[in-house]
Amino acid sequence: MIQITMPLNFLGTVYREIRQALVDMGEMFGLLEQPAEVTDKSDAKELRVEGGRITLRDVQFGYDADRGILKGVDIDVAPGQTVALVGHSGSGKSTIGRLLFRFYDVTGGAIEIDGQDLRDVTQESLRAAIGVVPQDTVLFNDTVGYNIGYGKPDASQAQIEEAARAARIHDFIASLPEGYETKVGERGLKLSGGEKQRVGIARTILKNPPILLLDEATSALDSETEQGIQESLEEMGEGRTVITIAHRLSTVVHADQIVVLEAGTVVERGTHEGLLAKHGRYASMWARQAAEEQEEA
Ligand code: ADP
Ligand code: MG
Repeated sequence: MIQITMPLNFLGTVYREIRQALVDMGEMFGLLEQPAEVTDKSDAKELRVEGGRITLRDVQFGYDADRGILKGVDIDVAPGQTVALVGHSGSGKSTIGRLLFRFYDVTGGAIEIDGQDLRDVTQESLRAAIGVVPQDTVLFNDTVGYNIGYGKPDASQAQIEEAARAARIHDFIASLPEGYETKVGERGLKLSGGEKQRVGIARTILKNPPILLLDEATSALDSETEQGIQESLEEMGEGRTVITIAHRLSTVVHADQIVVLEAGTVVERGTHEGLLAKHGRYASMWARQAAEEQEEA
């Protein structure tokens, strides 16, 4: 009996982790239906993350052989740095996220984490190292505690609460009559957009990945909520390497490096101040967004 349940339990955990990564990525990139196109090498090793340096070296990629999407992208994210990818819709930002998760292999160049080519490591260890906070966290029809603990199947209640505190959602949960046992989701308590995102942040904090991939909220959060969420995301990013796919430039101001993509190539890079001083693509995107926000206000 024991001989049978042990491996099954183990498989269950692995399955859950893979499914979790796929659920998160699916939410983020609308990829759930997509079959895995890459397989582990027979001698694939576990990814060993030391500082979390991410290097894209002359990365070429296309979904179809006849249409290049990324045309020689070089990006170096130092351990613990935050890099923001900006650019118009279709410029290739999400594609870089998909390649980082190795949903596809590059067709030229390489992507490395701490010097290890993504093609040489197991997908399981790669996906375990990267946390995702999608714009729209999917909640399971289960308790709020389960929804947070999902990031780490063996988490204790104390660890779940600690993560909830760090995501600033603990007080809200504690105020519910059934606390962490409150059922949420379609058939339970409906959480607001901001609360759902905080559950997603708590889930990721619990998973404690050295690398974060953020798809920034463009959802209909009011600006006060969005600012609060942004602060939590920034806090979570401390001590981790972060790649943010940014839609609103107001949230990339503090990034160590902003990379501006256009039609699959890097056209500018630098800090916010540095790029403004250049009066180039970024500066005009910034001016345009500022004008639009003025109109909305
Ligand atoms: P961004 O995130 O910057 O808006 P994407 O990386 O999603 O851009 O897309 C870059 C380009 O790749 C776009 O032209 C898009 O149409 C194309 N693309 C995205 N996903 C696929 C796919 N699964 N198959 C074919 N083309 C795709
Ligand atoms: Mg995108």
